[in-house]
Amino acid sequence: MRSIGYGASSDASRVGVKLIHPTPAARNMLAADPPPPGEGEERSDFRMTPLEAEIRRIIAVDGPIPVAQFMALALGHPVHGYYAARDPFGARGDFITAPEISQMFGELIGLWAAAAWNEMGCPGRIRLVELGPGRGTLIADALRAVKVAPDFREALAVDLVETSPVLRQRQQTALAHCGVPVSWHASLADVPEKDPLIVIANEFFDALPVHQVVRAESGWHERMVGIGDDEKLVLALHPDPILNFPAMLPANLGTAPIGAIFEWRSDALVTDIAGRLVEHGGAALIVDYGHAGSALGETLQAVGSHSFADVLERPGEVDLSAHVDFAALGNAAMRAGARVLGPVTQRQFLRELGIETRAAMLETAAGARAAEIDAALARLTEAGPRGMGELFKVLALADPKLGALPGFG
Ligand code: SAH
Repeated sequence: MRSIGYGASSDASRVGVKLIHPTPAARNMLAADPPPPGEGEERSDFRMTPLEAEIRRIIAVDGPIPVAQFMALALGHPVHGYYAARDPFGARGDFITAPEISQMFGELIGLWAAAAWNEMGCPGRIRLVELGPGRGTLIADALRAVKVAPDFREALAVDLVETSPVLRQRQQTALAHCGVPVSWHASLADVPEKDPLIVIANEFFDALPVHQVVRAESGWHERMVGIGDDEKLVLALHPDPILNFPAMLPANLGTAPIGAIFEWRSDALVTDIAGRLVEHGGAALIVDYGHAGSALGETLQAVGSHSFADVLERPGEVDLSAHVDFAALGNAAMRAGARVLGPVTQRQFLRELGIETRAAMLETAAGARAAEIDAALARLTEAGPRGMGELFKVLALADPKLGALPGFG
């Protein structure tokens, strides 16, 4: 096995890096159960996962791989990837997401979709596409809520974009009696290009591979994963700067100091969504944790069993995610001709959709369990380390012919 060969620059990549959020609350894992005793000691034992063995083989043959490729393998490898073989959600899983916290989240998104369909002029056929539906909870809650709009339900066909066989199974169970046709696809590209569409993506973009580039004297260098002299996986910079990278950087980041890190994702998916909206009509709703404006800083993080881990440790067994750059998403969608609304905070979006009224209704019916609904409401809408209200943002993309959409002021 050969060594990475860029050893000298690996330390440079850690110099002067400013975190956007020094205390990340991503995926709300902090509010979940604490790790069991002894977890910490187990972590430090060296145990190679099957995916790490495979990544080492790839590096041995081809040389170091970009962080984005490492993340894509860690999450999406068809056999050993994090999502391939496990259901990571819920109080016992690695993290908990908004639809798993409360039925109110999916219900309100269902009503938002019905309002968007109305705004589109109530087309007789509409595709409701969800990217990365997890356990299928959001879409099941949404479909139940839109029973109040029978014409919308009648026009609906649901398309779920999901790569994980385990989660597809969960989704099938969740939607077994939903009364609407449902199809599964491995990517958005496989969803037929006809009919207007409404796209929903909750905590999907944060799982898409992120590139890290680091500013050095010689320019911006891609951050790579290689094998260090101690035989462990190591982060290091590609020896050559990326040509013309400064021209690709958002204008507000032009004066980045040496050692600064910038994370970026491919625009391909959001460009595809926006292009479909412009051509066939419709709207998309993207909810995720991240920042409204492009910013410097490293946000890639690993979470396993409710605690943070090293991003290079136990690939395939810990979740990797990174903040979503909403400015980058919005700009790409606008370039493709779509109208962009937001981002607004999840708190603003859910409040405008009436989450407080919905919570009060549920509480009246819940009797002794009313406090649970109150706690869920707080968790979805409040700021602070346990709340998702401010860290999570909501962005809508729309066919420019559409009028106002609820939730965006
Ligand atoms: N939306 C859900 C789950 C979020 S986790 C919720 O809010 O609970 C990310 C989801 O995206 C999982 O279902 C995962 O299997 C899926 N996923 C991750 N990367 C994917 C990819 N490249 N293509 C399709 N699905 C993907």
